[in-house]
Amino acid sequence: MIQNNKQKNVAYFCMEYGINSNLRIYAGGLGILAGDILKAAHEYDYPIFGIGMLWLEGYTKQLIDENGRPYDKYPRNEYIYDYLEDTDVKINIKVKGKDIKLKVWKLKTDYMNTLYLLDSNLDENGKYDWITKRLYAWGEEERIAQEIALGIGGIRAIRALDLDVDVYHFNEGHAVFAGTEIINEKMNKGLDFEQALKATQNKVVFTTHTPVKKGNEEHEHGLLKSMGAYNGLTKKQMKKIGNDPFGNTVAGLKLAKISNGVAQLHGVTARQMWEHIEGKSPIKAITNGIHRKTWVDSRIYKAFENGDDLLPIHQQLKSELINYVKDKTNSQLDNDKLLIGFARRAAPYKRANLIFRKMDLVDPYLQEGKIQIIFSGKAHPLDDKGKDLVAEIVKMSKKYPNSVVFLEDYDMEIAKMMTRGVDVWLNNPRRPKEASGTSGMKSAMNGVLNLSILDGWWPEACQHGMNGWQFGDGYMGDNQDKHDLDSLYRVLLKEVLPTYYDHKSKWEEMMNNSIESTYEDFSARKMLENYYLKMYRKIK
Ligand SMILES: *Cc1c(COP(=O)(O)O)cnc(C)c1O
Repeated sequence: MIQNNKQKNVAYFCMEYGINSNLRIYAGGLGILAGDILKAAHEYDYPIFGIGMLWLEGYTKQLIDENGRPYDKYPRNEYIYDYLEDTDVKINIKVKGKDIKLKVWKLKTDYMNTLYLLDSNLDENGKYDWITKRLYAWGEEERIAQEIALGIGGIRAIRALDLDVDVYHFNEGHAVFAGTEIINEKMNKGLDFEQALKATQNKVVFTTHTPVKKGNEEHEHGLLKSMGAYNGLTKKQMKKIGNDPFGNTVAGLKLAKISNGVAQLHGVTARQMWEHIEGKSPIKAITNGIHRKTWVDSRIYKAFENGDDLLPIHQQLKSELINYVKDKTNSQLDNDKLLIGFARRAAPYKRANLIFRKMDLVDPYLQEGKIQIIFSGKAHPLDDKGKDLVAEIVKMSKKYPNSVVFLEDYDMEIAKMMTRGVDVWLNNPRRPKEASGTSGMKSAMNGVLNLSILDGWWPEACQHGMNGWQFGDGYMGDNQDKHDLDSLYRVLLKEVLPTYYDHKSKWEEMMNNSIESTYEDFSARKMLENYYLKMYRKIK
């Protein structure tokens, strides 16, 4: 590694950070990635600090009501202040013409690089204190206000704190209004807009995430202007940055010198998806990685390193999960029967219910308990279709109480228990919509075998029948659901089940291969090395 004291200082912007399950300032994979980056940066000595938001209520605490349907609760995060250091810095932003103050907190721990959190929950903001209340809740105006706070507020916080920054990394399109502030700074020093834009691009890198079209935010210019997101720039200039309507991802791609997708396949998909955008930065592919100390159980890794039997340790981890499930749901799973895990955001394209689409086929296995499945995952609070999906799974858990389980309020704790305690990690998105899928990496490194569509990271790692299984063969034509369903049943019933029940030593060998083939390549350490090599070091 190149001497770290010569490494570029990076300001990493993200709406959410998944650090632990008590700090409810994250929603899902995007935040977990950001948290893992700050942790790995600390462990391997990279000078990256985070800019984020202090969510008073965080993301939904999503529970299941007596009719089996999810509902949302927003308990306040008051105690969160106990973790934080006051920087004594407050900065101003303007939202809808109104002056709003943001207080800057510092989260400093001994296992993670510094994270600065912006907070609008101040008496002096009166009824305008809502900006940092709920993550990804409500409507478009609130969302834009939050993005003004993260982007413009983030840059002002960095200046007020007098932090040294070589590179600004916008993780996802939420932070792109930071670009307007950097451009303004350059124009105040005498550059014209074009020169200032160019100088800004020379300092920014951008990570794009979702390959689902409507997951990429767009806003009408009139609304952006009235909200204050123009930040003194003109419509013509803002159109130059983000097109018309203004696309956050488009703006990220155009404000950056280099962009990246989060897996090799996602890089290909993103390049196709944004091919038509003129003036965008090149989109590289840097596959996500996970922070191993957070996600890999030390007992299983130690057994792997020592060449010891993995199954006894795995059975122990599995029984810990089964006890955890019993405490939460009263369901009694069986330690000696195949246990599948499926935990994802309840978005329809992830097809959580795929495995139930031929009930006559799976029913006998569920009756007998030869197949047991734990599900978890939240629907977006405003997504009724996603909530229908959860309700359908909950219904299944009532039909098969000791072989199908739904764990409510999916969080880092549940993810941690599941990705080390199940036997198989199932993933079946409609291809190619899964950008990366880091939960599969967590599982793989714990010796939990992936059974997945060739989407996200899995095409890079999968050696079918050796370290896990693929199904669907990367198919993307008509009737993808039916094609993938047939393939899932074929692999599950003809390969996974016989290996599990009749070839335990083969299973154990596959667990070993799973850890061996993923432990280095899908670590956050590797990801950071690549960020520096392929992006940060290219910034002058
Ligand atoms: C790891 C993790 C994710 C991201 O995993 P995916 O495979 O992208 O779903 C999301 N939520 C939680 C709580 C996680 O721990």
